[in-house]
Parts: sequence; C-alpha cells; structure tokens
Amino acid sequence: MIIGIDLGTTNSLAAYFNGDRPEIIPNRLGKKLTPSVVSVDEEGNVYVGETARERMSLYPETVAQNFKRSMGTEREYLLSGRKFKPEELSSLVLRALKEDAEAFLGEPVTEAVISVPAYFDDRRRKATRRAGELAGLKVERMISEPTAAAVAYGLYDKTRDTRFLVFDLGGGTFDVSILELYHNILEVRAVAGDNYLGGEDFTEIMAKLFMHKSGLQLQDLNEKEQIRLYRQAEKAKCAISDETEVTMSFLYKEETKEETITYREYEEGCEELLQKIREPVKKSLADAGLKLGDIDDVLLIGGATRLSIVRDFLIRLFRKFPDTKMNPDETVALGAAVQAAMKERREEVKEVILTDVCAFTLGTEIVVEYGEGRLESGRFCPIIERNTVIPASRTERLYTAMDNQDKVRIRVLQGESRFARNNLYLGEIDVKVPKAPKGQEAVDVTYTYDINSLLEVEVKVVSTGTIEKMVIKGEDNQMTDDEIKKRMEELSYLKTQPRDYEENRLVLLRAERTYEETLGERRKKLDHYITAFEAALDKGDHDGILKAREALNDILEEENE
Ligand code: AMP
Repeated sequence: MIIGIDLGTTNSLAAYFNGDRPEIIPNRLGKKLTPSVVSVDEEGNVYVGETARERMSLYPETVAQNFKRSMGTEREYLLSGRKFKPEELSSLVLRALKEDAEAFLGEPVTEAVISVPAYFDDRRRKATRRAGELAGLKVERMISEPTAAAVAYGLYDKTRDTRFLVFDLGGGTFDVSILELYHNILEVRAVAGDNYLGGEDFTEIMAKLFMHKSGLQLQDLNEKEQIRLYRQAEKAKCAISDETEVTMSFLYKEETKEETITYREYEEGCEELLQKIREPVKKSLADAGLKLGDIDDVLLIGGATRLSIVRDFLIRLFRKFPDTKMNPDETVALGAAVQAAMKERREEVKEVILTDVCAFTLGTEIVVEYGEGRLESGRFCPIIERNTVIPASRTERLYTAMDNQDKVRIRVLQGESRFARNNLYLGEIDVKVPKAPKGQEAVDVTYTYDINSLLEVEVKVVSTGTIEKMVIKGEDNQMTDDEIKKRMEELSYLKTQPRDYEENRLVLLRAERTYEETLGERRKKLDHYITAFEAALDKGDHDGILKAREALNDILEEENE
C-alpha cells in the first residue's frame, strides 16, 4: 500500500485511498493530526506528536519542533545530549506515521508520496526523501503542497480550463501558488511566499495585546510562563471571530490575570501582518502574468486560514468567497493519497499530469560593460527564470569581455539578486575559446532543468563548436546507502512507545503541566486524581487504569477548557 503523507511544519498527517476516496489515517491516539514535534529522553525513548508537545513546557531541553524549516541545512538539534539533523527528526515523525498507518490498515506500509512546499529547492527535497528512507519508506514521488491541495479539491476533474490560487497559511510559513488546469495537465504557474509569516505571528499579536492590557512585560516572564502565555494566546486567537470578543486569562505569580480583547482591537493589531500577506499574492500574480480578477477559485490550506481575520481579508481582496468545503488541515494529505492512488494506477482515479515550476532563478555570473569601456564584474545573468514551468531548457549567448581572452568560466548560480555574490553558488565549468578581440568570440550557455531538479549545463563555443557539459545535482551532503543504513540502525534504538503506554504518558504529562498551572483547591483535587491514576498504573490492572485515566482526563478537560 502506498500512503500519502503531509509532513508539515506544525502538524503531519497520513492518508490512504480507500477504494472510493482518500481518507485520513488516525494516529495511535485516535487523532488525525500528529504535531511535528519530537522529544527524546535520557533513556532514548522517543515521543512524537502530542506527547512530545506536552513535554515542551516541562522538559524543553528534550524537545524539538519546527525542524521542517531547517530541512536540508547542517543545523543540529541537541535532545537529551544526542544530536539530530532536521531530516532525522522528520524521519522520527514519519516512522510514527508509518507505524500508526500499519496498525490501522493491518498491512505493511513501505512506500509513500510525501508533499513538500512548492518552493523547496533541491537540497530540501533530497533531505525530505532521505527522511523517508531513514523511516523505512520508499519515497517514489514528492508532490508539491499546492498541487496536492488542488488534487484533493478534485479540481483536476474539471472539464473546463481553470486558474486557481492556493493560499496556504500554516503555523510558521505562508505560500501562495497559482495553478492552471488545461486539458489533463495540472500546472503550477507561479509560487511565492514568506518563510517567516504564519499563524504563530497572529498568536504573538494576541499575546502582545494581552500583555499590553494587563501591564505585563515579556522580560518579566520565565520560559515556562512564556510558553503558557502563548498557549493561552493561541486559544484566544482560535476563539475570536467577527461576532465575538474573547477573554483571555493567565496565571501569573499566584494571580489570575484576565483581559477582554475585541475583534476590532485584534484586527488593528494584525493590520501589518495582513499587509505582508498581500505581497506574495501580488508577486505570484505578476509572475504568472495575471490579475486578481483572472482567478477562478481561491483554495485555503493551512490551519491559520481558519482565522476570521484572514478570511475577511481575502474576501475583500479577491471580492469572492474562498472555497472552504475542505478541512484546511487535511487537504494536502488527502491530495497526496490521491496521487499515491494515481501512482498505483488505480482505476477509480483519473490520471493527470502534474507539472511543477522551478522556484528560483538559475543563471550565471557576467561582466557588464557600461559606456566608454567601463566594466563591472560580478553581475548576475538569469538564464532560467523563477516560476518557469519545468522541464525547461534555455540558452543565452555570452560574449568575451576582454581582448585575447582564452577561456570563459561559467559559474552556475541560483537566486534573485542582481549581484552574483548574493546568489547561491552551485558549480562552475570552464571552456577554452580562441584568442580574439573582445566581443568577437561567444559561447552558447544552455541550462536544462528537469522535474527531478537536475540541472544540466552545456557550454558551446560558437566559433569552434566545442561543447562542455556538466550535471549539477544540487549541492547536497548526499548520504551513501551504507550511511543511511547505519544511521537507521542508530535511530532504531530510539524506541517509540506502545499505544497504551503512550496514552498514559500523555495524560500524566498533561496532568503534571496542569498541576503547575493551578492553585488551591483545584490543585488538591487534581493531585488526588493523579495519585489515584499512578496507583492504578503501579498495580497494572487494566480496567483500573482505564477507569482512573478517564476520571483524570475529565478533570483535565475541565481545567484546560
Ligand atoms: P498548520 O501548520 O497548517 O497546522 O497551521 C497551524 C496554525 O494554524 C497554528 O498557528 C494554529 O494556531 C492555527 N490554527 C489552527 N486552528 C485554528 C483556528 N480554529 N483558528 C485560527 N487559527 C488556527
């Protein structure tokens, strides 16, 4: 069975095709979303998801989150003295999803279609693939998140050509993609985004409003208090809508502070964020050569698109209601599951061709000549521009810049800056040219970029016909198969917990945290139920454990409402 996986920054989900339609696979706790949070304790026990998130406020030094942002980089995370790369942490999330899928489906799961942001460059895609391999999953295909969303919405089934915009506002990132469907081809036309904008920024505004009103300063709060304040702010953010105001409370040094925040105040506070949202929308439309009115549908994905403030803003911007018939958290995983079914060539799904764009401009360094022979080196010459549909092949003719120049060096660069030094260096290639006065010799530089992000560079000397070629697989700290195997073994010593154990741990962690957050009688009552639950666990009697756990859970629900 091939499953579809949305490996998100904040949450991850798995889905499968049930013969009729795609369906989300619940995790070991019966939930659809697994927070992309990993915790490793001193004994090497791994906690993934909600349990790991609960450990955040109690044992912050054992927990990592938001590692998707660092995928493909050398960043290392230290958890209880052990080092992890972002793809290794992602592999632990994938392993948990795989195990849960196997338990749910009752069969081994060895292959997956994993979604990645459309702007993910080659290095990040490779790191994602490696995360799959480390989790024991073969990743045959990666699908870009907006394409997966469009597939889930069934837009590929439309009979007329359509243009739509996928608006993806997650916890920490924002992406806009414009897609076009014509005939049987679903094509990403343009992508743009802001890697530092997301639901968390909206939470921060809520937290700031609260602090301002209650006279608290961030520096007065210790780490645990800050985490708690943000949790309360997130709750308030999710509760506020244009029909309601929200009351947020926070326990600070034995005193409960309470403030009411109105929708109007919150909207004003978010004004700057909403302006930031406008930019990538404008940029993607400009890159695709379209106007706001050319968009037939607006699809929403990412948890933060549930915010009324964002929805109201989009209605004003596009003068139409976005399509909200799907759950914005689930769309991408469902789309990946449909893609998995397409891969398995299941008859129930129509096959479409999914194409992609190159997210960054690829070019080379050149010398530019101003009037009177003034030369400026270090300038960037774009060859394949960002948002070109791939596979793509483009040729640029470059002339010698100096008299008697005997070679031309093509430095392959990726990026948007006018200056070569600001762009990412991918490699270089030299060719010999016959000596001649400047401008008389030329080379044709051809870049060919394919769907697997392989860039082939060909340099042809126009006068002699000599050709030099190189293939750039993207700068990558590629692990060999043996290295992957070895690391897999190392990671396999980290044990995830059996389902029951995990549920018990989660309740206990939540209880510990809630205990720290309450006072007086409520605290005493909580203590009583925690002790009863611990006693039941000690005794090991299954029914007793279930009963005590349920009782404790009820109290926790009340406290965490
Ligand atoms: P994602 O990365 O797509 O899982 O999105 C996570 C973000 O969505 C977080 O910032 C959440 O606070 C936010 N979010 C989730 N549910 C809601 C809701 N009902 N209202 C507002 N924001 C939400």
